Amino acid sequence: MMDNRDNQQCSVIFRDIASLLELQGDDLYRIRAYRRAAQTLASLSEPLRTIARRGALETLPGIGKTLSREIQELLETGRLRYHEHLITTVPEGIVDFLRLPSLSTEQVRTLWRTHDMTSMQQLAQAFHAERLPFDASTLETLGKEIAAWEREQHRMLLGIALPRADILVERLAALPLVEQVSVAGSLRRGTAMLGDINMVLASPDPPRLMHLCNQQPEIRQVLETGPTSTVVVTSEGLRVSLVAVLPPQFASALHYYTGSTAHLAVLRRIAQRRGLDLTQYGVRQLERSQYLPVATEEEVYALLGLPYIAPELREDGGEIEVAEAGRLPALVTLGDIRGDLHVQSAWGNGAHSLEDIAQMGQRLGYQYVAVCDYATAAAADRGLTPAKLATQVAAIRRLNATLPETFRLLTGIELEISPDGEIDFDTGLLQELDLVIAALHTGLKEPRNKLTRRLCKAMEHPLVDILAHPTGRMLGRQVLPSIDMAAVLETAVETGTYLEINSHVLRLDLPETYVRQARDLGVTLALGSEAQSIQDMRTMRLGVLTARRGWLGSSQVLNSLSYRGLLQRLQDWGVSNVT
Ligand SMILES: [Zn+2]
Repeated sequence: MMDNRDNQQCSVIFRDIASLLELQGDDLYRIRAYRRAAQTLASLSEPLRTIARRGALETLPGIGKTLSREIQELLETGRLRYHEHLITTVPEGIVDFLRLPSLSTEQVRTLWRTHDMTSMQQLAQAFHAERLPFDASTLETLGKEIAAWEREQHRMLLGIALPRADILVERLAALPLVEQVSVAGSLRRGTAMLGDINMVLASPDPPRLMHLCNQQPEIRQVLETGPTSTVVVTSEGLRVSLVAVLPPQFASALHYYTGSTAHLAVLRRIAQRRGLDLTQYGVRQLERSQYLPVATEEEVYALLGLPYIAPELREDGGEIEVAEAGRLPALVTLGDIRGDLHVQSAWGNGAHSLEDIAQMGQRLGYQYVAVCDYATAAAADRGLTPAKLATQVAAIRRLNATLPETFRLLTGIELEISPDGEIDFDTGLLQELDLVIAALHTGLKEPRNKLTRRLCKAMEHPLVDILAHPTGRMLGRQVLPSIDMAAVLETAVETGTYLEINSHVLRLDLPETYVRQARDLGVTLALGSEAQSIQDMRTMRLGVLTARRGWLGSSQVLNSLSYRGLLQRLQDWGVSNVT
């Protein structure tokens, strides 16, 4: 099972060393020796281990005694102490900069020393803001490298990562030496896509715990490891990064590793004004170099004179200013959600019966679930026909009569908006439904004007209550439908249409930025899973995370209303809209 991974790893490490020495203005001869060795190792066709076993490392071009000893150390221990030492002499991000082929060491020095940039996030931000002092050709290559880095940062879907992280938390909590464990990073903040699953653990013995974690059977590969952190790939191919701290450091570490970088940067400025520094080990008093005891994240904020800020808001999107003014919103929670407003049954494209859906709805603690199967005039055979819908409505009414008083299925439909923005369906029948959802699934590549017009015209239809997955985005796909969202939001205000936050794993649509704009305009959002199986109804938590990232309180969410309240609200609007 020999491969050339060792060769590549050694080559990267030697290249790092060369760049780090160059950054420090070290001896040119040494720098060149490491660089040459890196090239040699990268081009070898034979695995280093085989060569080492033959005792022939020193016969390789440019590899003398010192370097061959370092290769031995790497092969035996998976790390090189000299490399680890050099890395600690610069901020973490500088090593990332040095690994970018487009930047010379001199340019990295400028970024660091002159522009105070120490992370890829900062570099990417400065690049997008066109604030980098480089020539056009450097910027062009750098742009590609930054784009690749950004893709790498956002390659896992929230809906895939979250349930797996739950299982990991459970397993880690059961390990000896673990006192506390929590997800951190972008997963905890609820971003739609993310890179690693980040976890923070509290342990009386972090080095032993990290060692123990690396030994777990579900780990396929250990990418980087040290006494307080490890980055692994699980058997499912997920990248998980674990950090272990002593129990009294847990709250600070959790806060630190939850980020975001931008949020922390603002907090750090506030801390400095108070003579404090925020670190992963605790809040430090600058003057006395002492750590203040911090038991919870609330205490971290309290030391800065701020109320607790929920992880979903920690993006430097104005949350700190609003917190300072004492005007943070009370965010909606999963417990506030009284029902799912968009579920599909076996009458349409779904997998489960009305009975199954009703049962799942009750198990989730809901008061109602709206059955909204898909219908399109263009291809009625693929969706629900008016005749079939009429039969379904009767079936729902019969079923409701047998259910406990505390739970009801709502009648509804998800209608495809025609190319001219029409709703082609039996109007009499639509009037009888509790809920009419309109949406686009086809023709999403049409020009901006046309798509926008289709959406807006559908919202103007008096019987349409909700516009589902308004932007039509599919996470991880490059092409986004081109829609004038400002016009859509404005029409939602004018027509009183609810905009959906669709919690399907691939959608999370409306995206959080528009959720926040909608909220500011006074639009009410409707959370729906568009589940085609009862298991997928559990994605509601993703919708709630998106709502929270969009600063929503429960009063801005339609389905935080009770069953009675919801029917009242839908009917009131229907009446005023028709007359
Ligand atoms: Zn849909």
